[in-house]
Amino acid sequence: MAIMTREQYYKTLEDMHPNAYILGEKVENVFEHPLIKHMTAAVALTYHMENDPEGSKYLVTESDLTGEKVSRFLKFYTSKDDLLAKVEMLKFLAQNIGGCYMRCTGMDALSAVGIETYNCDQKYGTEYFKRFTEFVKMVQSKDFIVFSGVTDVKGDRSQRPSQQADPDMYLRVVDRDSKGITIRGAKMHQTGSLNSHWCLVVPTREMREDDKDYAVCCAVPNDAEGMIHVYGRGTLEAQAMEECDMGNAQYSKFSPLVIFNDVYVPNDKVFLDGHHEYAGDIVRNFGNYHRHSHGGCKCGVGNVLIGAAATAADYNGLPKTSHIQNKLAEMLKVTEAIYGCSVAASVKAVKTPSGIYNVDPVLSNTSKLFEGKELNEVIRMMVEIAGGMTTDIPSDKDFARDDIGPLLKKYLHGPEGVSTEDRVKLFRLVEKLAFESRDIVSNIHGGGSPETHRMTILRNADIESKKKMAKRLAGIDVGD
Ligand SMILES: Cc1cc2nc3c(=O)[nH]c(=O)nc-3n(C[C@H](O)[C@H](O)[C@H](O)COP(=O)(O)OP(=O)(O)OC[C@H]3O[C@@H](n4cnc5c(N)ncnc54)[C@H](O)[C@@H]3O)c2cc1C
Repeated sequence: MAIMTREQYYKTLEDMHPNAYILGEKVENVFEHPLIKHMTAAVALTYHMENDPEGSKYLVTESDLTGEKVSRFLKFYTSKDDLLAKVEMLKFLAQNIGGCYMRCTGMDALSAVGIETYNCDQKYGTEYFKRFTEFVKMVQSKDFIVFSGVTDVKGDRSQRPSQQADPDMYLRVVDRDSKGITIRGAKMHQTGSLNSHWCLVVPTREMREDDKDYAVCCAVPNDAEGMIHVYGRGTLEAQAMEECDMGNAQYSKFSPLVIFNDVYVPNDKVFLDGHHEYAGDIVRNFGNYHRHSHGGCKCGVGNVLIGAAATAADYNGLPKTSHIQNKLAEMLKVTEAIYGCSVAASVKAVKTPSGIYNVDPVLSNTSKLFEGKELNEVIRMMVEIAGGMTTDIPSDKDFARDDIGPLLKKYLHGPEGVSTEDRVKLFRLVEKLAFESRDIVSNIHGGGSPETHRMTILRNADIESKKKMAKRLAGIDVGD
């Protein structure tokens, strides 16, 4: 069963029993909880799409490891076409979901880890890449979801992992025996952890010799003993709990804190332990891939923002107003730049010795910097176009009342031909797109903080050669 159906996916969730806490309660069958189930639905849609004639063109590919049909979310990037196909797939899904479908962090981590485990094996004769490809074959054959546990809680940001007052601020190996390792620590903002099957633990930064117990990469099943998922709060939760006024009627997002309270990992799922020199490259590869993913995803979400703004204008009776058309063009400029940089980063990708392709880091990070700054401007323009109805709409529960419901329908009506119900639904979507804290913050920090994007651009862009260009033109001797 290399491709699962939506129904089979839900059955796998029923069979898993992650240790989960939501708003102070320990929760069983967590995937059905009102704060979780809308993201479960988004993930389930990806399985539906894998079986859909149109969707499968984006989501299904052939495994280099087995030759089987597999989910594109589980394939190494072994060509530039794989990277381009990823961007198109993420754009396609984001346009259908209007937000997160969560399978991209694991997808990016697979290739990031693949490149460096291969490099480590070549230098030290370890067998990490062999173990890792066995793991990848297994998740491919089951069509499982892998989420990447990258972001540690990090304590005092000015201190390295081994310098922290509490040594558990970065995930580390606390014990080893002949059969495996025991890990302890906590990963923050783990998008969709409760909709997944496996966590691929990845170091969050480069490590030095002193930090080598923190240079760990391994796979852990989502309901492993000692693993605890604690739901992290976001906006618009009251609506989800009451199951009305949702804005995005079907889909949402959550990102728990995941604690690894002495979790035992058998050796065959350990892909890096102590070879500290590879930790930085794994997370840098991951960051570049993930910023490249955002270029497809956030262009897709951007298209939803543009569609919501244009529909709001229609529903306000202003379909052809020139200043609104200008703003739509400005919004398109940003979303297409985000997308275009990711497409270009795929075209300029470079093959690594493992056979996996690395994206162009300058272009993928440029895409993400556009997203971090300019996508907020797209959101602001959507709100400017939509107007004050972006907030303050009475609840569906008020509309359902016999006494005030008809009055609300009457007074919140827009132009002829548009029902009040549709108008309210659309403005709730605008509100969700504008104020969902996880999306707004993730636009800026998802895939790493903007400063890391700038640092990566500077590290990879040759400023000295640019200085020479300028000096030559100015008639200054550059000595060549
Ligand atoms: C909604 C959402 C979803 C996410 N999903 C995932 C996920 O699925 N998986 C995952 O692993 N992570 C995920 N992340 C985490 C994301 O990658 C991090 O938020 C990001 O890397 C920033 O890390 P941080 O939040 O710890 O901020 P910090 O690292 O604390 O950064 C805060 C600020 O401090 C600066 N700073 C930090 N350290 C230093 C220093 N030593 N010197 C100078 N300046 C410094 C940064 O540049 C930044 O400006 C998600 C985040 C969000 C908001």
